[in-house]
Amino acid sequence: AAMRETRTKKTKTVCTFCGVGCSFEVWTKGREILKIEPVDQAPVNSISTCIKGKFGWDFVNSNQRLTTPLIRKGDTFVEASWDEALNLIAEKMGNIKNTYGANALGFISSSKMTNEENYLIQKLARQVFETNNVDNCSRYCQSPASWGLQETTGIGGDSATIEDIASAGLVVILGCSPAEGHPVLATRIKRAHKLNGQKLITFDLRKHEMAERSDLFVRPKQGTDYVWLAAVTKYIIDQGWHDEEFIKKHVNYFDEYLALLKPFTLEFAEKETGVSKETLIQVATMIHEADGTAICWGMGVTQNVAGSYTSGAIANLLLVTGNMARKGAGAFPLRGHNNVQGAADMGTMPNIFPGYQSVTDDVARAKFEKAYGVKISNKPGLDNIQMLQAIDRGELKGMYIAGEDMAWVDANSNHTQEMLAKLDFLVVQEIFLTTTAQFADVILPGTPSLEKEGTFTNTERRVQRLYQAMEPLGNSKPDWQIITEVAKRFGFNWNYSHPSEIFAEMASLTPFFSGCNYDVLEGWSSFHWGSTDGKNTPVLYTDGFNFPDKKARLALFGYVPPVEFPDEFDLTLDNGRLLEQFHEGNLTNKVGGINYKLPEVFVEISPELAKERGVESGTLVRLESPYGAVKLKAVVTDRMQGTNIYMPMHSSSHETAVNLLTGNAVDVKTHTPAYKQTKVRMQVLKKQ
Ligand code: SF4
Repeated sequence: AAMRETRTKKTKTVCTFCGVGCSFEVWTKGREILKIEPVDQAPVNSISTCIKGKFGWDFVNSNQRLTTPLIRKGDTFVEASWDEALNLIAEKMGNIKNTYGANALGFISSSKMTNEENYLIQKLARQVFETNNVDNCSRYCQSPASWGLQETTGIGGDSATIEDIASAGLVVILGCSPAEGHPVLATRIKRAHKLNGQKLITFDLRKHEMAERSDLFVRPKQGTDYVWLAAVTKYIIDQGWHDEEFIKKHVNYFDEYLALLKPFTLEFAEKETGVSKETLIQVATMIHEADGTAICWGMGVTQNVAGSYTSGAIANLLLVTGNMARKGAGAFPLRGHNNVQGAADMGTMPNIFPGYQSVTDDVARAKFEKAYGVKISNKPGLDNIQMLQAIDRGELKGMYIAGEDMAWVDANSNHTQEMLAKLDFLVVQEIFLTTTAQFADVILPGTPSLEKEGTFTNTERRVQRLYQAMEPLGNSKPDWQIITEVAKRFGFNWNYSHPSEIFAEMASLTPFFSGCNYDVLEGWSSFHWGSTDGKNTPVLYTDGFNFPDKKARLALFGYVPPVEFPDEFDLTLDNGRLLEQFHEGNLTNKVGGINYKLPEVFVEISPELAKERGVESGTLVRLESPYGAVKLKAVVTDRMQGTNIYMPMHSSSHETAVNLLTGNAVDVKTHTPAYKQTKVRMQVLKKQ
């Protein structure tokens, strides 16, 4: 046994896939991953994992990993030393800054990188290059949810914990598919629903697993969630079911909201959303009768032109019914990537420093200017959508993209690729030669989570440490070291010897993290950020909402109807995840077992549509939107209804990638692409 113990290394890590934040031991022998061992002490998942966390790690040893810096020579890349690559970056990015100014540069960070690495990317942008042009992929997903919560409650994160979802009397799942996107969290709901009498309502276009299990499954027309939320809220108030005491004590703008709700009658909602009045009354009644309502939402809400306002309407409903600032209830935008919450928390956004301190706030800015020894603009920088527009105008000349495959995951990816090709200079820090990396002038090989230390923050604002299980592959380096090296080339004396020092610097500047450090996070311990006095804060707002008067503010924003398409695009293309693969597939498509289970993407179509168009499962179809076209096989399933069809987002093939079809419309407030507002026409090519 002693022999075994010394040869097998057991390392605590945090899952690199979804935002649930499962942790477990990874058993390794050298670079060989022997197994993933879930343990009781894991605070989120205990002994549970899903297929990705348990079996999804072979990408770490893929022979497609980048193992040395690469420099473009014409149409190819040649291997380079770190010195050559970093010197070229210093020369080219320095030239762009000197010639066109700091705002001719843009920085994109990654929700796969650690908190410490995200902190350094925003510091690189703000201190070294003196620009606020920095953003991360929450722009593609949950920015509207963060915005809606920020406006109403003051903090853009889940208002309580996964435990509170599990203990709620009623869970409303809205525009997300937790059994596929957040499997271990979904297990908690399934158990509570089956064993503890928890009630479950799902609103979605697609009858996914949680919809099948629900007490009530509702299919509103695409992009109309705002309307039923407003109508249900109005009905609740009309019935006198709102929580008057809570509103009086803790909520501002009730009368103004009441006035805004006036047109949102059940009749109007029925017409606009296609959901019957009776069903809406049933929803309102279930919320009224429940001991605590938790609303979980995802991209089905946020990736719409009305994503922000709809997120605000969700918060309004919860506030009016007293379902905030208490256990067993609350607002839960489910974060997609493992560290998308952390990336935003660390200030890789154009308008905020770490901990959501605004760049327009003179006091916060003065603090960072003092710490960084540079002047920082009080104007928010460009988000990643605006960066692409600035490239088009010839104003943005250089980009530094770390761990984000924008050329593949951005809506209308043909357009994004055209823009990246226009840049004078592009640095990509990555672990694989992604589509985005293929546009780079310099590629820097970073490392996946198993090869470094750091922290990740899950969907419930829980910060957890991960430890290094193995050495970086080949000549690759932990991303925090790479960013540090870049800063040093510009004469900045960044002397971090360990990520704990980066975390400590961040925490010293960020009130939400003032009580958190590597000792607090040791081993299986964790910390929920959320109060400015250093306390662990699983449930937010129990001491008041995050505004000077401690009161929440009902969001007073109206309805933005869905984008209109020409009639010939007659099918609504919903899109999202499947259980086995992760996101665009860059990681899981390098895992043999997962590819065996789910080798290719397909389009789900309803039995009615299949019959009308003569399609069977296996028929090859061509889908065309105003932006592009794909060819793939159909799967006929009653998960879909009528003219709504569904495509998974995991394709690694240029033939079948959903973002060839998605378009240019964006959320009114945050510019999150309206991926879900995509319409296509279908041509039947051939039967199998
Ligand atoms: Fe990883 Fe999410 Fe699966 Fe947990 S539920 S193992 S965090 S992918």
